Amino acid sequence: MKVEEFSSKKIYSEASGSCAAVDGNINMELNEYGMYEEIINGHKYHEVDKLVEYVSPNLNSETDEAEIAKKLYDQVYDIKYDERIGYFKSLYAGHVSEGDYRENASSGGMGTWIFKELFEKNLIDGVIHVKENLDPSSAIMFKYDISKSIDEIKVGAKTKYYPVELSQVIEIVKEVPGRYAIIGIPSFIMAIRLLAEKDDIIKNRIKYTVGLICGHQKSSKFAEALAWQVGIKPGDLKYINFRKKLLNRPASNYGIEMIGTIDGKDMTIVKPSDELLGQDWGQGYFKTMASDYTDDVMNETADITLGDAWLPEYTKDSKGNNVVVVRNPVIDDLIQEGIKSGRLKLDIVDKDTIFRSQAAHYRHTHDELAYRLYKKDKINQWRPKKRIDASKNIPLLRRKIQDLREEISIQSHIIYKKAVEIDDLNYFIKEMGKLSNKYKLLYKLMALQKKGLLGVMKSVNIKISTVIKKMANSL
Ligand SMILES: Cc1cc2nc3c(=O)[nH]c(=O)nc-3n(C[C@H](O)[C@H](O)[C@H](O)COP(=O)(O)OP(=O)(O)OC[C@H]3O[C@@H](n4cnc5c(N)ncnc54)[C@H](O)[C@@H]3O)c2cc1C
Repeated sequence: MKVEEFSSKKIYSEASGSCAAVDGNINMELNEYGMYEEIINGHKYHEVDKLVEYVSPNLNSETDEAEIAKKLYDQVYDIKYDERIGYFKSLYAGHVSEGDYRENASSGGMGTWIFKELFEKNLIDGVIHVKENLDPSSAIMFKYDISKSIDEIKVGAKTKYYPVELSQVIEIVKEVPGRYAIIGIPSFIMAIRLLAEKDDIIKNRIKYTVGLICGHQKSSKFAEALAWQVGIKPGDLKYINFRKKLLNRPASNYGIEMIGTIDGKDMTIVKPSDELLGQDWGQGYFKTMASDYTDDVMNETADITLGDAWLPEYTKDSKGNNVVVVRNPVIDDLIQEGIKSGRLKLDIVDKDTIFRSQAAHYRHTHDELAYRLYKKDKINQWRPKKRIDASKNIPLLRRKIQDLREEISIQSHIIYKKAVEIDDLNYFIKEMGKLSNKYKLLYKLMALQKKGLLGVMKSVNIKISTVIKKMANSL
């Protein structure tokens, strides 16, 4: 593929860093909107490395997640398969009871615990995960890093809704022999699998993959915009905890903890997430384009998939719980031992429970992707090859929701950039507020449609009779 063609398609690339790992002329850089982008050092008529297309899940048209997962797991003893979940050996919901893993985690603490177990049982030498960037000369807040002790592994806990990329850690894996485990969102784990197909060093050294469920990726401006809303201006944010557990609230009602300077003073501020604009994940503020073109909800090529147990029976506990999909037998054994010894409190759950915890995510990412693909085909624009066929056959109001979600995501990047340029947060709040209000109105219309005409008449009737009753009582 020519540099020129790659440049036109890369907006769909997950920017995982896998392309940079196979082509020395590609560097990963954060662009002006706070999203990683492949920067190509070469003339537009030159060719990029022939592996570039293969190792980017959205640019690859030769294979897909189902095919890769089949190669990895189809032969595993007692493995089962579900269209929505992919392969699985066991399904759980719950949390870690051992130590302070749960307390220091985003959900139930399984993400950190599983690495600790693999490390303690001498199954790995290093963990590739996302940690704070301690380089004071860099404005990048979080990056992929390698931990080589349990203390280091623990420091990397917590979800970072922040752009990251893998090119630097892949270089280390290639240079430093060892057994590694890696965590990532679906497209990143798939990128590692694709790299491993073409590179034996990656295949042999990356021993275990831990997958996160991922609604979508955010730009770095997401963190910045949250901080600005509490008075920390762009450039003054020093630390952010995107998932501060707020006791006595449902786990889904978590807080954002931000440390930064306000009027020259260091301040720590915690805000419930629902009090900040941009926190409705359905609306997709600061979403990257590539996120809307993955169809892998359950991180199907990972040895274990972890997510939030977004189910009423679990969210009522503010301390947080995971949903867990296990595919690798070694990890399955570690978890079963953990349950037996009382170090894990996991309930065995069925496929529907796992699916229910991600129902809205599945509708957007899987079902309604068909409509997003249809829109691209209609204007004859190249788009990634997916496991879902393009179609406009979704209800009218859902089409409108999809259109608006796209507009909100695109406009959030553009309007925020302008707000920073004119140093006016209110411009962002006002302009984005208009789109968010339109979005809420659409949901109200859908609720009315669901109720049906009879339902609406019934509730109007109830309201009128209440008024009549009140009037009668006051006579
Ligand atoms: C961008 C993003 C979107 C998500 N969206 C959803 C969703 O829609 N639904 C859902 O159920 N769950 C989602 N998750 C997963 C969820 O937030 C938790 O990360 C997951 O439940 C594991 O929690 P834990 O308590 O087990 O992990 P912890 O013990 O807190 O450990 C988390 C591990 O993840 C690593 N990590 C943190 N950020 C990243 C990152 N950006 N990329 C790769 N690794 C990272 C950490 O370094 C750590 O090793 C998302 C995660 C991310 C990063």
